[in-house]
Amino acid sequence: MKIALFPGSFDPFTKGHADIVQRALPLFDKIIIAFGTNSTKERFIALPEMINCLEKIYKNEPKVEISSYSGLTVDFCKKKGIQFILRGLRNYTDFEYERTIAHLNQSMDKSLETVFLTTTPENSSVTSTIVREIIRFGGDASNFVPKVIDEYLKKR
Ligand code: ADP
Repeated sequence: MKIALFPGSFDPFTKGHADIVQRALPLFDKIIIAFGTNSTKERFIALPEMINCLEKIYKNEPKVEISSYSGLTVDFCKKKGIQFILRGLRNYTDFEYERTIAHLNQSMDKSLETVFLTTTPENSSVTSTIVREIIRFGGDASNFVPKVIDEYLKKR
């Protein structure tokens, strides 16, 4: 069974994230979307709220599981029997950052392989940061986030 971890902050989860998950589905038997909770950064959208949204989005997709973890990604992978880490690449800044993390993870666990999917052109400038700015200033983020998230953001 091929299991991939898609780790991130997803604050909030965007159409860019959703696109990576969708395109990775044929590659794996299971994808665990997991919130890494080590960051000292305070979240814009509370973790339980975002988890709730993701559970709604993927309720009819048996291959997708939502989770969260603290501690090292490699330890979480070992515990869950995960062999692959899934990440998305938008630009060379992402690449430089992702390469460092991938090498680091590989040095800690040789059997763990990081798989990268490039963003689609329409999602290449979608970032959680931009969505947060739009929401802060009362704008409409519906072009950048899945419908469930947009509805949540609007009624909050
Ligand atoms: P992190 O805090 O770990 O960087 P993010 O939630 O920002 O977490 O991103 C999680 C993953 O999704 C990263 O691999 C990131 O490069 C990727 N990603 C973010 N936005 C997009 C997008 N628009 N298209 C493709 N991949 C994306």
